[in-house]
Amino acid sequence: RTVLGIESSCDETAAALVTDGRVILAQRIASQDEVHRPYGGVVPEIAARAHAERLAPLIEATLADAGMKLEDVDAIAATAGPGLIGGVMVGLVTAKALAMATDKPLIAINHLEGHALSPRLADEALAYPYLLLLVSGGHCQILAVEGVGRFRRLATTIDDALGEAFDKTAKLLGLGYPGGPAVERLAAQGDAKKVPLPRPLVGSAEPHFSFAGLKSAVMRAKHALDAAADPDYTDADIAASFQQAAIDCLIDRTRRALKGVGEMNALVVAGGVAANKAIRGALEALAEDHGLPFVAPPLGLCTDNAAMIAWAGVERLALGQSDPLDTAARPRWPLDPNAEAVRGAGV
Ligand code: ATP
Ligand code: MG
Ligand code: FE
Repeated sequence: RTVLGIESSCDETAAALVTDGRVILAQRIASQDEVHRPYGGVVPEIAARAHAERLAPLIEATLADAGMKLEDVDAIAATAGPGLIGGVMVGLVTAKALAMATDKPLIAINHLEGHALSPRLADEALAYPYLLLLVSGGHCQILAVEGVGRFRRLATTIDDALGEAFDKTAKLLGLGYPGGPAVERLAAQGDAKKVPLPRPLVGSAEPHFSFAGLKSAVMRAKHALDAAADPDYTDADIAASFQQAAIDCLIDRTRRALKGVGEMNALVVAGGVAANKAIRGALEALAEDHGLPFVAPPLGLCTDNAAMIAWAGVERLALGQSDPLDTAARPRWPLDPNAEAVRGAGV
């Protein structure tokens, strides 16, 4: 069985065809990086317009790549939230129209569930339950993933997401948008011990993350560097020190979560920030310490894509699930509805 997946919740317009045999028959991603670069971040209204222009031809091209017709797919899955609501509506309404025209089931996917299940697309050995570190542009959470739609949130950020911290660090260092990959590249040339930066909440009894203080410290370090007549560190040292501080936070918090969570089959990382090789390496070492397999999706499945949405659709279709044509687009949609709000932040 084959599912068409559609993703449009941020600034990637994407379509993919994925089978229940874990084969990505075709996928296309039209990034809007160039569109938003002049603004230093995603402008929601402009993103929605770009999705509206690009999505239909992108779906046609994806079907053509696979030599398939719309009639050949078994279901149509689209991100229904959370995300920038204009873009989400473009994708969801397109999926509804295709479902209606072909009389195929519509499957409304939580974008975060797409990230959370993406490791299972690439690794058929990965079985529930697993401990997931979900690190993306808008989220930083630790979840026990117990099944499709069954998430227990163990930790979240009380302020910024980690991807956001990477993007703000990139902006401060003049690396442009999007920032994560640029910070990682610059960090590789720097000395992580040169710039003393805080590790918020490390060792704390509470389970959560915090990155706002780290971001402010990076800003102070950059201002001090710019003002210094004879600086003893560089932009690359700031990037490396920031990345190391972030890694120390992730490892400390994940280690804490592993203690109380019970039997897990693997330690898993997903989301855009999971593309970071230093972060993957540190988590792999942590998993090894705990005698757990470590699973991370291939780099292309970490940042936003439609294959992960199609795959979540495959998993839901296998359980006989689909959604009605009046399904709402949801700007906010927590994976674990039972998780308490944390200081009003980080659902
Ligand atoms: P969310 O999934 O929370 O709704 P999003 O969809 O905007 O947010 P993703 O596409 O999952 O986010 O991830 C994008 C984020 O990942 C950006 O903040 C980007 O800077 C970050 N990122 C991408 N590659 C890397 C990398 N190599 N190192 C660090 N961060 C990275
Ligand atoms: Mg993007
Ligand atoms: Fe995402």
